[in-house]
Amino acid sequence: MIRLIHAKFMTLTLSPRILHCLPTCCTLLSETSVRFHSISTYPRDPLVSTLLVALKSSSSLYCCRVIHARVIKSLDYRDGFIGDQLVSCYLNMGATPDAQLLFDEMPNKDFVSWNSLVSGFSKRGDLGNCMSVFSVMKSDLDLELNELTFISVISACALAKAREEGQYVHCCAVKLGMELQVKVVNTLINMYGKFGFVDSAFKLFWAMTEQNMVSWNSMVAVCTQNGRPNEAINYFSMMRLNGLFPDEATMVSLLQACETLHLRRLVEAVHGVIFTCGLDENITIVTTLLNLYSKIGRLNASCKVFAEISKPDKVACTAMLSGYAMHGCGTEAIQFFERTIREGMEPDHVTFTHLLSACSHSGLVDEGKHYFQVMSDVYGVQPRLDHYSCMVDLLGRCGLLNDAKELIKNMPFEPNSGVWGALLGASRVYHNISIGKEAAENLIALDPSDPRNYIMLSNIYSASGLWSDAAKVRALMKTKVLARNPGCSFIEHGNKIHRFVVDDYSHPDSDKIHKKLEEVMSKIQEFGFVSETESILHDVAEEIKTNMVNKHSEKIALAYGLLVSAADMPLVIIKNLRICRDCHKTAKFVSLIEKRTIIIRDAKRFHHFSDGLCSCGDYW
Ligand code: ZN
Ligand code: ZN
Repeated sequence: MIRLIHAKFMTLTLSPRILHCLPTCCTLLSETSVRFHSISTYPRDPLVSTLLVALKSSSSLYCCRVIHARVIKSLDYRDGFIGDQLVSCYLNMGATPDAQLLFDEMPNKDFVSWNSLVSGFSKRGDLGNCMSVFSVMKSDLDLELNELTFISVISACALAKAREEGQYVHCCAVKLGMELQVKVVNTLINMYGKFGFVDSAFKLFWAMTEQNMVSWNSMVAVCTQNGRPNEAINYFSMMRLNGLFPDEATMVSLLQACETLHLRRLVEAVHGVIFTCGLDENITIVTTLLNLYSKIGRLNASCKVFAEISKPDKVACTAMLSGYAMHGCGTEAIQFFERTIREGMEPDHVTFTHLLSACSHSGLVDEGKHYFQVMSDVYGVQPRLDHYSCMVDLLGRCGLLNDAKELIKNMPFEPNSGVWGALLGASRVYHNISIGKEAAENLIALDPSDPRNYIMLSNIYSASGLWSDAAKVRALMKTKVLARNPGCSFIEHGNKIHRFVVDDYSHPDSDKIHKKLEEVMSKIQEFGFVSETESILHDVAEEIKTNMVNKHSEKIALAYGLLVSAADMPLVIIKNLRICRDCHKTAKFVSLIEKRTIIIRDAKRFHHFSDGLCSCGDYW
């Protein structure tokens, strides 16, 4: 009998799918009083050891407790190693009281046991417990505080952003000479980075006798996380000069730094580094790169990067789909989605958010409705608020305002600002005052401090000639909000980002830029361009309004781009707010007359202008 159970047990535990068999094993274990121990080698029960390994990747508290009981019965309990393992398992499952109880009862605790307790608390982000164990260990002279202890406690302080505790532990480390341990210092650098104490991180780094790969990576990450992308790039260059080759961690931080800087040439240079260092097979790096190209307006480059991935995983596919959605390429997004499904990808809620948003950005209403239906019916993905928001946007964009309103009424969630914002945008385009008013009022109730909602509502009134209502909304806005977030536009030239605000004369070449702008504006007027001034709220003469929209930052950036860049280069402009109708129309005319591709990324999406048309179909 014993042999039979034992055999069955062995088959289960030796199975590569041990994790799936774990509950069965545990039930078997709890139902039998047989001591497998008797037929296996003393002192450790190999079955328990195997089960403990499986338990590490499981989250079943039941299994943990069964094994715990078994360990007590079989006397393996006295084995410090097994006790430590069980403590870690309990802590990983968040069962702190169980862990603490077991730990207190363990007869043979050594510094390894204490360290595993500290490390368990640290991984759970449990700063309080971590610090108290640290204090006990510190006051007990028999316990040796080693590298591992410090790494755990410092990580816990970093995670909890506990500056005082962090600095205290740092002092303790110095007292014990731990500051000479590379791993400890690397953890301290990361901690100071998380606290935003970049200078402390710099000091630690330069005081090290020898920096290793992790040290350099930490510095690149610290600079990136703290909005200092140029320094991140400097550290990267120094690292290369020191003869070190970047790895995944380096490249992911570096690519994030590139995202902040928005420099196309820099991204291309980093792409080159990825290639020369043989990291182009690393799916995480390549996916980050693909994402980055989409974000800086180079969808073609994203497609090329994707095409070269030998085995694209779900994250890479989702990134590509997101690129298509961001750039309003609905048809391409659908084709891509169908292809990946045929190749066996299982879509999730993120996939459908991108797919629906792609449909919405391209006005593919039937396709959007179809995917909204099948996402739950066929793929078992329940629609979330994001999906409803996309659908409201999609229906609204096609003028189906009542359908959109009906969808909001029937959805199983409280509508958020995304949903109402989509409805408000549509009401403005289709001049539907009553729905627009309802949406704007809801938005204002959700966030009374956001000036955009008041401006939109006021625009709806103005567009319908209801001037006094528009004036009331503006007066209300003045009492509730201080000022509108100032619009600014960015354009890259000569490895630098040039920033312009409205009516900006601060650029060294500003005379030339404004002369160019005037020249361009009069040229497009000859071709029939008429200003659209609805974004100007003030009650002023049309001529003054025209003058005001003509000074918008994206127009100045556009004029600068035309002035300095080669005639065959696309102009890429980034705008922090949504682009206004007038600037949108200007970009369309300029793309036609100057035969230039213009790409403008505003707060909502990308606009690709060429031959007088925009990829958004004039809806955004
Ligand atoms: Zn504008
Ligand atoms: Zn557009």
